[in-house]
Amino acid sequence: MRVLLVEDDRMIGAAVTEALKGAAYAVDWVQDGELAIEAARSETYEIVLLDLGLPLVDGLDVLKSLRTGATRVPVIVLTARDALGDRIRGLDLGADDYLVKPFEIGELLARMRAVMRREGSGASPILSNGKLHLNPSTREASYLGDRAVLSAREFALLQALLSRPGTILSRSELERHIYGWSEEVESNAVEFIIHAVRKKLGAMAIRNVRGVGWMVDRSS
Ligand code: CA
Repeated sequence: MRVLLVEDDRMIGAAVTEALKGAAYAVDWVQDGELAIEAARSETYEIVLLDLGLPLVDGLDVLKSLRTGATRVPVIVLTARDALGDRIRGLDLGADDYLVKPFEIGELLARMRAVMRREGSGASPILSNGKLHLNPSTREASYLGDRAVLSAREFALLQALLSRPGTILSRSELERHIYGWSEEVESNAVEFIIHAVRKKLGAMAIRNVRGVGWMVDRSS
């Protein structure tokens, strides 16, 4: 899952980026409102984390711009403790949730999962196609009796595939779910991750469609 983090405080931005990567998100971090609007136009995100006090374009104006677009990306507003008026305006402008700084990373991650669950089709936090199951809060996966805890990248890959069972995802599609802009991606990185997941869950857990990409079976 790809996250756009909009935060001009370097300490907070760096800490949140690291934590999100550790939790298997691909993160693009921008530090002003103009870059945020540009990023949201050029890339598809599963969620946006938005600070309000930003250089160049204010966070509330970024939110307005996000809400005029054709697609509705979930947004969590990150605000200062004393900014009640901003929080109310943010929710009125279509933010899905807000978090008051300083916040615990664990709470941020739980709210992100909750917001994306509300956006998704079902209320179930477990992703599954019937044979393969994945729990986003523990990163545990199982396939026909084999169980394993996945690494952040293994999880990100399997989550991308299990979000669209029966759909073939290409290498570049998988990469955009696993890596942010700032990360160097080795040419065979996706194969390595697939190999590791198959080793843990069995070779049949992920299907290779030669020359096109990879998929997991449609729900049966
Ligand atoms: Ca700020």
